[in-house]
Order: sequence, then structure tokens, then C-alpha cells
Amino acid sequence: MFHEALSSSPSDYSAGIAAEQAHYAASRVEDELVCVRADIERLLLITEGLWNILRDEHGYDDELLVRRVLEVDLKDGKIDGKLAAQAPGDCPHCNRPLSQNRRYCLYCGEPTPVDLFSR
Ligand SMILES: [Zn+2]
Repeated sequence: MFHEALSSSPSDYSAGIAAEQAHYAASRVEDELVCVRADIERLLLITEGLWNILRDEHGYDDELLVRRVLEVDLKDGKIDGKLAAQAPGDCPHCNRPLSQNRRYCLYCGEPTPVDLFSR
């Protein structure tokens, strides 16, 4: 093994390190994918449960619920099964632009409105 290390070229050594780093990065992405799939499955279960409550206990039919989902999808101007990220808008207190992912306005310090469905 010692002789192999001495006989291999520096480019072989660099390629080996690069391959090892790529393998590690791919492994991390696989782990994240497993977590994302589990999150999606959990959200689908919750959504189906809520959908069933709305239909079975509150009288909303599937057609109305589908139409409401399409209305949400259309909020960004196109029906494509997703909602594009939107700018946070202006502060309701001082009318200056709000920053993304901040709980308080940078200008006036007031809490920013909570949008549970922001992306
Ligand atoms: Zn403000």
C-alpha cells in the first residue's frame, strides 16, 4: 500500500480525493432526499385528512375543493402545480419594503405580518 501511494501520480491522488468528496456529497443528497420524501408523504396524509373533514363533515364537494386548490395555484398567474415565491411586500406600519425571512421591519421595528403559506 505504501508503495502504491508512492508510485501513484499526484493527479491520481487528486482524482481519488475528488471522487471521495463526490461520493460523500452524493450520500448527503440521498439522505436529504429521503427526508424530503418523508415530509411530502406526511403532508399528503395531513392534506387528505383535512380534505376528508371538509368534504365529509362540512359539506364541501370535491369539485369545489379542487377549484379552490386551482385558485391558490393561480395566485402567481399560472396553473402549474406550484406557487412561485413572492416578495414579502411593504410594511403595513411604515409602508417600506419588508425583507425576506425577517420577523420585524428593518425600518420601524414592528413585527412583520405572518404568512403561514409563504415560500
Ligand atoms: Zn415598518
